[in-house]
Amino acid sequence: MSQTPAQSSEEKPKPRRFEPPVSPATQAFWDATREQKFLLQWCTDCRKAIFFPREVCPSCLGSSLEWKESAGRGRVYTYTVEYRPQNPNLAGPYTVALIDLEEGVRMMSNVVDCDPDRVSVGMDVGIAWEALSDGRHLPMFAPTGSTTGGDQ
Ligand SMILES: [Zn+2]
Repeated sequence: MSQTPAQSSEEKPKPRRFEPPVSPATQAFWDATREQKFLLQWCTDCRKAIFFPREVCPSCLGSSLEWKESAGRGRVYTYTVEYRPQNPNLAGPYTVALIDLEEGVRMMSNVVDCDPDRVSVGMDVGIAWEALSDGRHLPMFAPTGSTTGGDQ
């Protein structure tokens, strides 16, 4: 059972992309993105990092969680290129990827600042923020390694 509050009639600019809602579990995460800080939850019981933010640890069901800033570094685990985005406000092609963060969590994001043809599995990436319309930022990833040369 959930109640749906009435929407206000306030005019807002049309968002370019889906802007994730904020919930009690994700409030701290989104607040930090206003300063372009990427927070991960950590379980104080089993010492694992958790993403996406939630109220209990998915590994041990413990509820003793704390926030720590992530280094924001990871690698592309796998990716797909969207040539025809379903959202007409987004220009294609763009890259949707699963990123393995150094802290041991896997998250879905986009690889930006990189031609989709040059994205590769195992590519080193770092956080790159995209501004949302309300001051928050969405975590994206951009290549950090030597991707300019042709040598592997
Ligand atoms: Zn745990």
